[in-house]
Amino acid sequence: MYWQKELEVIPREELEALQWKRLQETLDRAGRSPYYGSSPGRPGLAAADLHSLKDVEKLPFTTKDDLREHWPYGFIAVSKDELVRMHSSSGTTGRATVIFHTVEDIAEWTNLVARSMFMTGMRKGDVFQNMMTYGLFTGGLGFHYGAEKLGALVIPAGAGNSKRQIQLMQDFDTTVIHIIPSYALHLYLVFEEMGVDPKRDTKLKIAFIGAEPHSEKTRLKIEELYGIKAFNSYGLSEMNGPGVAFECTCQNGLHIWEDNFLVEIIDPKTLRPVPDGEEGELVLTTLVRRGMPIIRYRTKDLTRIIPGPCPCGRTHRRIERIKGRTDDMMIIKGVNIFPIQIEKKLMDIPGVGTNFLIILEREGFNDDMIVKVEVQKEYFTGDLKKLEGLRRKVVEELKSDILISPKVILVEPNSLPKTEGKAIRVVDNRKDE
Ligand SMILES: [Zn+2]
Repeated sequence: MYWQKELEVIPREELEALQWKRLQETLDRAGRSPYYGSSPGRPGLAAADLHSLKDVEKLPFTTKDDLREHWPYGFIAVSKDELVRMHSSSGTTGRATVIFHTVEDIAEWTNLVARSMFMTGMRKGDVFQNMMTYGLFTGGLGFHYGAEKLGALVIPAGAGNSKRQIQLMQDFDTTVIHIIPSYALHLYLVFEEMGVDPKRDTKLKIAFIGAEPHSEKTRLKIEELYGIKAFNSYGLSEMNGPGVAFECTCQNGLHIWEDNFLVEIIDPKTLRPVPDGEEGELVLTTLVRRGMPIIRYRTKDLTRIIPGPCPCGRTHRRIERIKGRTDDMMIIKGVNIFPIQIEKKLMDIPGVGTNFLIILEREGFNDDMIVKVEVQKEYFTGDLKKLEGLRRKVVEELKSDILISPKVILVEPNSLPKTEGKAIRVVDNRKDE
């Protein structure tokens, strides 16, 4: 039932003692990097200044900008010839950040991914098809190494080429897949096109979904369409990648591996910690990484700690699915809105398809939100005008949640731009005057 029982069900007291020991080692190690070691104006990194785990709050935060400014080697805490791998963030906003790993770092990361997979019921003997981009992105090699360590047969399919993905699943009896949630919904349409029923014609039983925020409705939809269990995975390249937090079979929050990461949730405005249960920004400190330790990294991801123990017995705390990034938040007519709220509502309305696009426009001082929504194939009769009732229902449902009235445009099934990577959900045409 457990990959490493002694570590997964470790009593909290012992876990915190382990974290304390590892934090001190980490600070010691980090002090050897140019950034943490010699930069002026960053006092308090010395382990001697801390007296307990809670004192971590005295340490300065590290941000993506810090990683960029000291790119590429400013955070390296070992001699460069100790490094064996680099990965990089997607770099959608500004220069990509790079992360370097030693042999030990890769082994620790691989073990965390294997531990996470094992937790969902994946075992040696499973056939694992990794449908993520390989290369600098961590979702390819990160999952690949973990699955091999677990003993599964790995098909390194990579992203895209939907028909070939389906063919591979059928030819080699794939049982477990790793897939981006919006792509899973898109892929189902290709299954339909090919006349293949994933429930009847494949051996699929588990999907790992992650890499983009998604709602519980999306998970349930994927489970229903494919007849499988879908588990939420969370990670970010700055903290290795996948294997930071993962769902167990209770599917109620993601266990965050606290023997490897020190977890804080802060109020992104005041930067003060919030109590367990309250929403805020996730801040993480690496506890075992050697090549590139990072202290109090501001992930920009919004979540909360789910209070109380998990019935599975693991003592590592659970975070709720990521609500969005502080960067994703749209402010429209003074209201804060996340794309995931729109997705959640749309998934509930019969007749609405799986794809949508939010367009933000500005007229004078007035912001407008336009939501283009695909109609489900079964509801589409060839005339969108006949679906005015459905359109009005979408407006009402959205308004009840986000409190502003969006302009809703229904579009034909399968007509919005498709992506084989992460879905583009928001196009912001507002220009600052
Ligand atoms: Zn659990």
